[in-house]
Amino acid sequence: MSRFWSPVVQSLTPYVAGEQPVIDGLVKLNTNENPYGPSPRALAAISEAVNDTLRLYPEPTGLKLREAIAASHDLDPGEVFVGNGSDEVLAHTFQALLKHELPLLFPDITYSFYPTYCGLYGIDFREVLLDEKMQVRIEDYRQPCGAIILPNPNAPTGSALPLAAIEALLQEHPDQVVVIDEAYVDFGGESAIPLVQKYPNLLVVQTFSKSRGLAGLRVGFAVGQRPLIDALERVKDSFNSYPLDRLTQAGAVAAWEDQDWFRKHCDLIVASRERLIAALRELGFEVLPSSANFVFAEHGERGAVELAAELRKRAILVRHFRGERTENFLRITIGTDAECNKLLDALKQIL
Ligand code: PMP
Repeated sequence: MSRFWSPVVQSLTPYVAGEQPVIDGLVKLNTNENPYGPSPRALAAISEAVNDTLRLYPEPTGLKLREAIAASHDLDPGEVFVGNGSDEVLAHTFQALLKHELPLLFPDITYSFYPTYCGLYGIDFREVLLDEKMQVRIEDYRQPCGAIILPNPNAPTGSALPLAAIEALLQEHPDQVVVIDEAYVDFGGESAIPLVQKYPNLLVVQTFSKSRGLAGLRVGFAVGQRPLIDALERVKDSFNSYPLDRLTQAGAVAAWEDQDWFRKHCDLIVASRERLIAALRELGFEVLPSSANFVFAEHGERGAVELAAELRKRAILVRHFRGERTENFLRITIGTDAECNKLLDALKQIL
């Protein structure tokens, strides 16, 4: 790294996403994508949007998409913010927390983007350990802080908190922003969006990458009361005033409106998840209960790095992690039943 750049950038530990190789026949269970892909209506809307209007800049605030999301939750479009993937929405959220006097709290173990953002933006943070069952213990967040960010369900563990626990947290911290990252909520969690009108300190972030099968399009959004959303708009306009291009806006609106496709495929994934958990347990894995489109599993005798390498030789990708408490775990995305069966057959050969 060149010494000409800022010391912050020189010392940065970047977030490294899972590999994205394109190989025919690969069973890709490493980055929590949706095996069924997007609604055909979304694909048709994107194709239709490929026309001469692409010479024009897109609508800067993603208005149609904000209207569609707001309408489903009985909210005002001014209470919805959209961005280029929920990572970008989260990045803006972290920027809005710059120079807070007290630390930002989030779990240890959680989405590894959070410490990366804090490092980049110089935000002070404190990690709150999960309990011995790898669950978030809400009482541990009863401490002075500048803000809280919690994924619900958590990643990479997959455990979800009930809405009552989120509500207790909001009441406990009336003067702090509580950000709930609901990337995986559609696979069995309880969304906090119904609490938005009651709590001015709540910001809920969701994505189209998982339950709507559109990781490649890059769409995420935040829902909160207007003063919170206004801050994100200000950060956005200073950073990237056209986050969603025309094709993305067209595709995302159509995907959002196709509720049948969305529900049907979330249900399929949940059913496959429960079958996979049972089968992995039979193979000697300890598997955490999951409310997400992945499972977090540890084999009593075989290390995760070795298992992931053996699976890779058989063209199956799964994720493993560094870090003392996570290094024995595999995180496995729920694929189609055929993909899950290939994984199980490979594990039977390896174990
Ligand atoms: N939050 C969590 C907890 C995630 O696991 C991810 C996906 N890696 C994201 C947010 C970001 O997803 P995207 O940027 O694709 O919306």
